[in-house]
Amino acid sequence: MTTLVFLEHHEGELQKGGLGVLGKAAQLGEAHAAILGSGVAGLAEQSGRYGAGKVYVVDDPALEAPLSQPRVDALAEIVRDNGIENVFFAQSVLAADLAAALAARLDAGLNWQLTDVEARDGGLVAKQPALQDTVVVESGWSSTPRLALFRSGTFDPQETGGSAEVENVSVSFEDFSTQATMVEQAHEEQSGPSIEDADVIVAGGRGLGGPENFTLVEELAKALGGAVGATRAVVDAGWYPYSTQVGQTGKTVSPKLYIACGISGAIQHKVGMQSSGTIVAINKDPNAPIFEFSDLGVVGDLHQIVPKLTELVRSARG
Ligand SMILES: Cc1cc2nc3c(=O)[nH]c(=O)nc-3n(C[C@H](O)[C@H](O)[C@H](O)COP(=O)(O)OP(=O)(O)OC[C@H]3O[C@@H](n4cnc5c(N)ncnc54)[C@H](O)[C@@H]3O)c2cc1C
Repeated sequence: MTTLVFLEHHEGELQKGGLGVLGKAAQLGEAHAAILGSGVAGLAEQSGRYGAGKVYVVDDPALEAPLSQPRVDALAEIVRDNGIENVFFAQSVLAADLAAALAARLDAGLNWQLTDVEARDGGLVAKQPALQDTVVVESGWSSTPRLALFRSGTFDPQETGGSAEVENVSVSFEDFSTQATMVEQAHEEQSGPSIEDADVIVAGGRGLGGPENFTLVEELAKALGGAVGATRAVVDAGWYPYSTQVGQTGKTVSPKLYIACGISGAIQHKVGMQSSGTIVAINKDPNAPIFEFSDLGVVGDLHQIVPKLTELVRSARG
């Protein structure tokens, strides 16, 4: 079974989400990767190390801006010319747009919000949590190519040390695909890793008491070289940006260490972070639900504990 994985990249780096999905594709059979952009040839080698046997590189100025339509042309051509049976994407704004448009172009079926996929009876079975993540629904595809969009952070990238055969593809773009141009691209000010890529996340909830106290979480995250996450309650209250929301309607994350400060552990938050390596909770209520799925719990006032923890981390790191 041949699977093509769309590898998204930003500022010269392949994104962790796509590399994780590539590892999953390699477990199912032959894994191919698609790298689309302008000046991207240098990224091809990296994909081999994460499981791609072959990488299709479309290096074209028409692909400079992160717009989906020219990418649909490129992927559709690669899929048709190479007998690709599955096309996998890791969730992102661009990937979701692209997967939907590719499904329309190829008249193919798309399953999304997936957390796993399994080979069964010569086909694939997709697994998708539903009903606020209380059940897992299995669904399939009635034709090929099968398109699948996985939740962000579902699979960790694994370096396998292989190398990929590189095929440079030149695509003839449809007239309508190059009509849209990117007028402006604004980046949110951010220092340190993004929550999707961070090995450590320090997350803050309503227990912080107010937006000004997010400095406590920021300081701890900085000391640990991690990123800051938040609950929906606090982003809805305008205490912290939406881009940091972890959970059912936010991001799914799986860092090595997740420190929850003043977070009750509602099911909608839990589903976004439960696959983290080690979960540490700081909460003043010993009966808070978060303690039921934490590896380590500290019962107490975060305003006292977090600054001390930050101090300890700083001195331990010299
Ligand atoms: C459809 C739907 C989707 C949702 N999606 C999401 C989602 O994606 N992500 C998400 O996070 N939520 C989501 N929610 C909201 C979710 O149900 C909870 O309301 C939210 O997660 C609670 O946020 P919180 O833990 O910050 O606040 P609270 O539940 O109010 O918890 C605050 C905690 O802080 C503790 N605390 C208070 N003071 C201190 C102190 N000084 N020191 C230590 N601890 C203290 C309290 O004991 C309490 O446990 C969703 C809800 C719905 C209905």
